[in-house]
Amino acid sequence: MEEQQQFVATPEAKGKAKQLRLFAMLAWLLAIAGEIFAIVKLIHDETMVWLIVAIVVILLLAVLGSYLWKKANRLDPASEKNKVKFFIQSQLGAIMAVLAFLPLVIFIFTDKNASGKTKGIAGAIAIVALLIGGISGIDFTPPSVEKYTEQINSQTAEIKDLTNGQDHIFWTPAGNKLHIYEDCQHIRNSDVSEGTVKDAWEARGIDNNEICKTCIARAEKSKANAEDEIPSVEELQEAGSAIE
Ligand SMILES: [Zn+2]
Repeated sequence: MEEQQQFVATPEAKGKAKQLRLFAMLAWLLAIAGEIFAIVKLIHDETMVWLIVAIVVILLLAVLGSYLWKKANRLDPASEKNKVKFFIQSQLGAIMAVLAFLPLVIFIFTDKNASGKTKGIAGAIAIVALLIGGISGIDFTPPSVEKYTEQINSQTAEIKDLTNGQDHIFWTPAGNKLHIYEDCQHIRNSDVSEGTVKDAWEARGIDNNEICKTCIARAEKSKANAEDEIPSVEELQEAGSAIE
C-alpha cells in the first residue's frame, strides 16, 4: 500500500487567497453600504431611476465579491470535516447576495411613500438582481481539502503507472492539464513549471487539474513498446521448443 499524500495549501497560495478574500469582503461591504443607502434615500417615485442604478451597482459588487471568493477557495479550500463551516465558506457568495438584496426587496414593497408603479418596476428589478446575485454566488462544485487530496492520490497513481513509477510532471500557469512530457506539443511555447502531481495541485489554485490526453497516449505507446522488447515467458518457451 502506497503512502497517502495530503493536500496542504502552500504559504504563497494561502497568502494569495487571503488577499482575494479581503477584496471580496470589501466588495460585499460596499454592496451592503449601497443597499443601506438605497433603502434610506432612494425608495421614492422621483428617485426610481437612481434606485435602479444602485441595484445594478450593488449586483456588480456582489458578483465581483463571489468571483474573488471562489478563486480564493480554489487556492485554499475548506475542509469538509466541519460541515457548517464548509457550507458557509463555500456558499458565502450566495449568502452575501441574499443579504445585499433581500432587505432591499422587502423595503421596496413595504414602503409607504412609493407608488405601486415604482414598487412594481424597482421591486421586480431587485428580485431579478437577487436571483442573479444568489445563483452566481452559489459554488456548484465547491473545492475541499478532501477532494484535492483524493485527486492528488488517484492522479499520482495514474501518472506512476504510465511512467514506470516516476511522479514528475509539467504544467503551465494557464491550462488545467498535467503533462508527462516537457516537450508535449500543447506546452511547447509556454512557461512550464515542473514537480510532482501534489506540487501542481498546491501551486495552481484550480479544482479541475487533468492529465493531458496526448501525454497519456504517448506514455501508453512507449510503455507498450518497452513491454514488446522484453519477451514474455511464453515467447521464451516457444523459442526454446523451436530450437529443440
Ligand atoms: Zn501533454
